[in-house]
Amino acid sequence: MTVSRADVLRALELVKLPASGQSLAASGRIADVLVDGGKVIFAIGIDPTEATAMEPVRKAAESAVGGLPGVTQVLVGLTADKAPPSAGMQARRQAQQPAPGGAPKPSGVPGVKQIIAVASGKGGVGKSTTAANLAVALSGLGLKVGVLDADIYGPSMPKLFGIKGKPQVVSGRTLAPMEAYGLKIMSIGFLVEEETPMIWRGPMVISAITQMLREVAWGELDVIVVDMPPGTGDAQLTMAQQVPLAGAVIVSTPQDLALLDARRGVAMFRKVAVPILGLVENMSYFICPECGHQSDIFAHGGARHEAERQQIPFLGEIPLAMPIRETSDGGRPIVATDPQSPHAKAYVALARQVQASLGGAMRAAPRIVIE
Ligand code: ADP
Repeated sequence: MTVSRADVLRALELVKLPASGQSLAASGRIADVLVDGGKVIFAIGIDPTEATAMEPVRKAAESAVGGLPGVTQVLVGLTADKAPPSAGMQARRQAQQPAPGGAPKPSGVPGVKQIIAVASGKGGVGKSTTAANLAVALSGLGLKVGVLDADIYGPSMPKLFGIKGKPQVVSGRTLAPMEAYGLKIMSIGFLVEEETPMIWRGPMVISAITQMLREVAWGELDVIVVDMPPGTGDAQLTMAQQVPLAGAVIVSTPQDLALLDARRGVAMFRKVAVPILGLVENMSYFICPECGHQSDIFAHGGARHEAERQQIPFLGEIPLAMPIRETSDGGRPIVATDPQSPHAKAYVALARQVQASLGGAMRAAPRIVIE
């Protein structure tokens, strides 16, 4: 039995808005309905002030649609700021910006000590490859690590870790993360077929990510590495604000243009008072596998220079290397599959720096036993 968009809207006729008694289907608030086999994903548009009042409506919508024959999974998000923000909304958003020194921080994820973002000012610089290998390297340093693929426009963790299959529901709405190379991994790519075009509006991105963060049985983890959506738009900014981030690693290639984008990334995290753990230069230089000669294809060293300019730590250089591309594209992260290679060692060096800058919380906590 296949579900249609019309079926979804019919189910939502039975869900009423608390204030007006109007049906959710008729309210014009339903957006971005995506039906993929038995999975249904959609958003309910709200004003940011309605978030608490509308949570029961979101839940009711989820169970109404979940009850339709043929529906196996439902993901419903509350989304704010659908239209271009009005002056009032801008002002509200600015008011939500953390004031220096006194930030209203989003609440953490139970059991998870730290959440860090791997971000880039633009796509294609190797952010996801870096995030995946950094996660494996952190795990190799003895930490319990999760990976949240928040690159919802182009989720690549299923491919980078060679994971097939779907997450299981553990209870109610909570999903079990997938596992690979000792990591716990969650990606929207596990929930939606690869060929399904994903058209997300900014606010929906945020609610999907928040759900993946909070409705997944991560268990006890030292750190979750979040592969951020590339860019520095409104969605990324709000995400940086709504996910309780302990810090951000910015990935750039050495070219001037990429560095310009990276600078925007740094500015974005600064705006929301997320500490910048540092800048990584990816595709930094090329070592000829035949003769060992190093070529600085993209004017190597630009990111180190930029980090100095921005007064942020420089976390290291990852070479442009065929084995990195091959292992990434083959679902076998190089840090796990060829740990002795110089490429893997570059990621381990990066992981050590990240661990050091996160400090005490990244060391396994001593167990306190009360007898
Ligand atoms: P992003 O997440 O920034 O869009 P990806 O991590 O998906 O970038 O990388 C884009 C492409 O570049 C992929 O094919 C990946 O295998 C390749 N790549 C990333 N980093 C390197 C590297 N250091 N050397 C060689 N290829 C790389």
